[in-house]
Amino acid sequence: MKIGVLALQGAFEEHIKMLSQLNAESIELRQLKDLQQDLDGIIIPGGESTVISKLLDDLNMREALLNKINNEKLPVFGTCAGLIMMSQNTEDPKAVPLGLMECTAKRNAYGRQLGSFSTTAEFDGIGGIPMVFIRAPYIKEASKNVDILSTVDGKIVAARQGRFLATAFHPELTDNTCVHKYFLDMITESK
Ligand code: GLN
Repeated sequence: MKIGVLALQGAFEEHIKMLSQLNAESIELRQLKDLQQDLDGIIIPGGESTVISKLLDDLNMREALLNKINNEKLPVFGTCAGLIMMSQNTEDPKAVPLGLMECTAKRNAYGRQLGSFSTTAEFDGIGGIPMVFIRAPYIKEASKNVDILSTVDGKIVAARQGRFLATAFHPELTDNTCVHKYFLDMITESK
């Protein structure tokens, strides 16, 4: 299985390590031509959504990425800033989202004191897993087409809409591979 990991900025190397533990191949997506390769799915990592958004435009990758995802019906998994990029609305004109999931992301949603924290919570279909939040968003509003997979303190922190999966936390910064395995299973099911 070949997964394209958007490698413009942020925590993409950790995703690549996690995928290799699950025997999946990673392709770093750094420039427009990288999107010509055959891929089975795409990961959008954490980082800074405003920067990822700007780089997608500066490198002329936004439209090609969206076309690839839509035309090839590729499954996509976004973590943290990746969740923000997958939403329809970020409430910030500097973070222009890809609009893959019918939801609104609230950026830097936990305030200064809770900027970063770890917890364990239930993830639908997996069970209790460790969750690392770093200046994380949550999903503020979601259409009924979005399945909520996990909440922490009443806030949506993981959701799925068809072949799209997004988490506000960073499973790639723990040693628990279950969420990545869940995404790889989504890809297998979608074929
Ligand atoms: N605060 C970042 C943003 O708004 C997300 C942080 C992260 O990805 N760890 O994009």
